[in-house]
Amino acid sequence: MKNPIDNPRRITRIITGNETQDGAGVRLTRVFPAGQLSMLDPFLLLDVFHSDDPQDYIAGFPPHPHRGFETVTYLLAGRMRHRDSAGHSGVVKTGGVQWMTAGRGIEHSEMPEQRDGLLKGFQLWVNLPAAQKMAEPSYQELAPEEIPEEVRDNGVKLRVIAGKTTLGTQGNIKKIAADPSYFDVAMPMHAKYHETIPREHNAFIYLISGEVEVLDAQHSATRISDGQLAVLQEGDGVKIRALSDSRLLLIAGRPLNEPIARHGPFVMNTFEEIQQAYRDYNNGAFGHVKVAGVRDAVA
Ligand code: FE
Repeated sequence: MKNPIDNPRRITRIITGNETQDGAGVRLTRVFPAGQLSMLDPFLLLDVFHSDDPQDYIAGFPPHPHRGFETVTYLLAGRMRHRDSAGHSGVVKTGGVQWMTAGRGIEHSEMPEQRDGLLKGFQLWVNLPAAQKMAEPSYQELAPEEIPEEVRDNGVKLRVIAGKTTLGTQGNIKKIAADPSYFDVAMPMHAKYHETIPREHNAFIYLISGEVEVLDAQHSATRISDGQLAVLQEGDGVKIRALSDSRLLLIAGRPLNEPIARHGPFVMNTFEEIQQAYRDYNNGAFGHVKVAGVRDAVA
C-alpha cells in the first residue's frame, strides 16, 4: 500500500507540564497551559490525573461554572460522577468519555465515584467559536463499549473517541466545532503507527506510557517518553515508532484563530465578556447544582 503521508509532521516542542492542585485539592499534572505553551488553538488546557492515593483525589471538583468552551473527560481507570445545574447527572466509567459543551454556561460538580483504588484520566478543554459560546449547554457521553476500537495488522490498537482514522474508523462524538480527532493508541514495541491528520489542524501527542519516536520527512527521529506532550508541526500526518510498549493520545483540531480572553472557568473573546460571565454567574444565571456541598461565589 502506498504510504499516504507525504509530509509527516515533526515535533516542534516537548513539554511536561506542572504538578498542581485544582478543585477541592485534587492533585494533577497540568500539561498545559504551562511553560512555553499557553494553548494550542483550539485546545486550551490538558490535565492528567493519576493516583491510587484517595487523598489525592477524594475531594473532587465541587460545584463550579464553565462558559464559552467544552470540557472533555476521558477515564483510563476509576469513575467520576457528574451533576449540573440543569439537573443532568451521570457517571463517567473506566474507558468512557464525557464531552461537555458548556456553551453559555452551567455550574457542575465532578466527583470521584470511588473511595479508593486508582483514578487515572484526562481533562481536555476545547474552545468554542464566538458564534457558539452562548449556545445551549449540551453533552455527549459514551460508555466504554460505545468507543470504536481499531486493531491494525501490526498489533497497534486504537480507541477512536472523535474523528476518523486513516483506515476509516469513525468516533461517536459528533458535531463538534473544532472537528477534533481524539485517538487513544496502544503500540507494541517496535510497531509503527502512521496516521493522516488534516493539514490545517493543530495536533499534539501525549505519551501515557512507554517511549516512542516521531519521524520527519528526512527520517530523522525525535524521542518522547511517558508524561511528555509533543506539539506537531504542520504536515499531512504523523509517523510514530514505538521504542517500547507504549500508549499515547493523538489529538488534533481545527484552530479557531479568534481573540481569546480567559479567566478561571470562563473563556470568551473579550475582557468585557469575561466580566459579564462573572456577573451572570454571581447573579445566579447559571443556576446551581442541587447537592449538599459548598459553593462559593467566584471573584
Ligand atoms: Fe468542570
